[in-house]
Amino acid sequence: AKTQPAAFDTRAVQQRDSAHYLHPFTDHKSLGERGARVIVRGDGVHIWDSEGKQIIDAMSGLWCVNVGYGRTSISEAVYKQMETLPFYNSFFNTTNLPAVELATKLVSLAPAGFNHVFFTGSGSEANDTNVRMVRRYWDLMGYKDRHTIISRHNAYHGSTVAGASLSGMEGMHAQGGLPIPGIVHIGQPNYVASGRGMSEDAFGLEAASWLEKKILEVGPDKVAAFIGEPVQGAGGVIIPPATYWPEIQRICDMYGVLLIADEVICGFGRLGKWFASERFGMRPDLITFAKGVTSGYVPLGGVMVGERVANVLIEKGGDFNHGFTYSGHPVACAAALENIRIIEQEQLVEKVGGASGAYLAERFASLRDHPLVGHADSCGFVAGLNLVKNKADAVHDCELFDPELGVGMVCRSFMFANGVIMRAVGERMIIAPPLVMNHTQINDMIS
Ligand code: PLP
Repeated sequence: AKTQPAAFDTRAVQQRDSAHYLHPFTDHKSLGERGARVIVRGDGVHIWDSEGKQIIDAMSGLWCVNVGYGRTSISEAVYKQMETLPFYNSFFNTTNLPAVELATKLVSLAPAGFNHVFFTGSGSEANDTNVRMVRRYWDLMGYKDRHTIISRHNAYHGSTVAGASLSGMEGMHAQGGLPIPGIVHIGQPNYVASGRGMSEDAFGLEAASWLEKKILEVGPDKVAAFIGEPVQGAGGVIIPPATYWPEIQRICDMYGVLLIADEVICGFGRLGKWFASERFGMRPDLITFAKGVTSGYVPLGGVMVGERVANVLIEKGGDFNHGFTYSGHPVACAAALENIRIIEQEQLVEKVGGASGAYLAERFASLRDHPLVGHADSCGFVAGLNLVKNKADAVHDCELFDPELGVGMVCRSFMFANGVIMRAVGERMIIAPPLVMNHTQINDMIS
């Protein structure tokens, strides 16, 4: 039997929580007044709060619990590794078995041309690694001015200083003088917001052309890399037109700019492929991963390093003066290996790329008939819809459209109170359910 949480006084925990725990991305004062909901247990696609209420976790925690909650084989693998060797990393010519085995496994799953992995503790650290790595690459190639990285508005690449700089979130840049020098942004391929009646294909090409404009503005001999999420996640599940990534690839190739695919959300089956760049015709030089690699059971991230960069770093680089205490952490790598074994055994990538993904797409699209839903679209196991007051010339106002709080925030709280965790970005409501969600559970969530 799975371990059940011990009983406790929820109100007392909430008081200690607001007294001592500064939550990420949270207005601490408002948390103090309302009190945070205490989540105590998870199983499959569900979590339970301290009041015993069952909730469908349609966000997989933070887009990460791909194999669902309560996998005892992962806890067993972690326990076994902790008993054998809980930690080892010295930076001095040592390695450990789970790290080697995981690197080998990831290379076997990655697109052709990826033979190396750099491990980190998180997605943010992995993107910091990308900044260091692409700049080092160009230094070694003899182009010491080629340090600028182009990213996109409304992108999310993490919350470290470099990660938040790569991110294109105004609210993050407004705090602490970001972005750091050498990181610039272009528009996002958001057809619903910016399509202006163009065809999707034409808009995809136009959005990609902003990259070429920016390269020419900065100077092609100064641009190191372009970074993008195949489907923007935290920015609102922005699914690009089919023409976008092939054109971005063509532009990167033309100017020799390195392409970084940030697959922290999109990788490990979420878009129906092990690596989402395969779905979009991208040929990235570096791929950022985290989250789904361990389904969040233990923190782990990293960068798949393609041959173009790896060869130069290895052949010409000498010491790469970068790394983390927890790079290649044996316990995290053991969790990842078991997580990947589950994904393979249960054919979750194939299911999301096939029947489950198609079923979710069909059921999610049916929400377009709802009087408050405008656009609704999905890609694999991520989906988003726009809440609208005015639809087909009818006005459907209701208490959700609170002008102060914003419709997304009100809807998110409403859904949470009613047993489904969704995310809100403006008026867009988002889901990214565990990849194990079955048809009955999809129906439950949609209803
Ligand atoms: N990149 C993307 C695309 C993400 O969605 C995230 C986190 O949500 C990150 C990077 C940062 O990962 P972490 O929170 O593990 O640092």
